Amino acid sequence: MAMLRGGESEEIPGARWLWVGHYAVGILIALLLGAILGSFPLFHQSLFPSKLRASDVVSFMGYGGALLMFWLVGQRAAAQLEQREKTLAFLRPLIMPVVQLIVLSLGYMVLLLVIGPFLDQTAKSIYNWIFIIGIVGASLWLSFAWLRQSVPLLESLGQAPVADLRVSCLRCNALLINPGRFCEECGARLPRPSAQL
Ligand SMILES: [Zn+2]
Repeated sequence: MAMLRGGESEEIPGARWLWVGHYAVGILIALLLGAILGSFPLFHQSLFPSKLRASDVVSFMGYGGALLMFWLVGQRAAAQLEQREKTLAFLRPLIMPVVQLIVLSLGYMVLLLVIGPFLDQTAKSIYNWIFIIGIVGASLWLSFAWLRQSVPLLESLGQAPVADLRVSCLRCNALLINPGRFCEECGARLPRPSAQL
């Protein structure tokens, strides 16, 4: 008895990804707040006890929050691809390296907003190297993930759909598609199949 596939297939396509839109709006709001509040004259004037400007702290919170949400999107997308999206599952190993690359590249400037004023020459150099190592590491991670991923992918792409093999029976002239060794109509032994497209 043929089983009908219910449940999942009745879902609206793409409904499973609606949450990405919610995160996108959240990220946009955080970016806007960081940019707008950070440019408020009020925030420029109020100084913290140290050399830190309030505007930089506000910008850091906005941009940092946006990066954090972006990171969460990556994690959740990776999990969803693995569990529920079999056709796109090949993207899964690439998501987190890409997310890490973006977060580190942007995070370098964002974190510098609040810790920059406190770094002397040596500390700044250490800070730079931490990010250089992190970004290079993420790039290598991405390259390896892509290589590991693309080898099976290429192999499956190389398997072209096999064309039907058509063989005419020499005795009864029946046209047979993908026959065995004997004619299905008259039982005569078939000629060795040669590919006739
Ligand atoms: Zn035949």
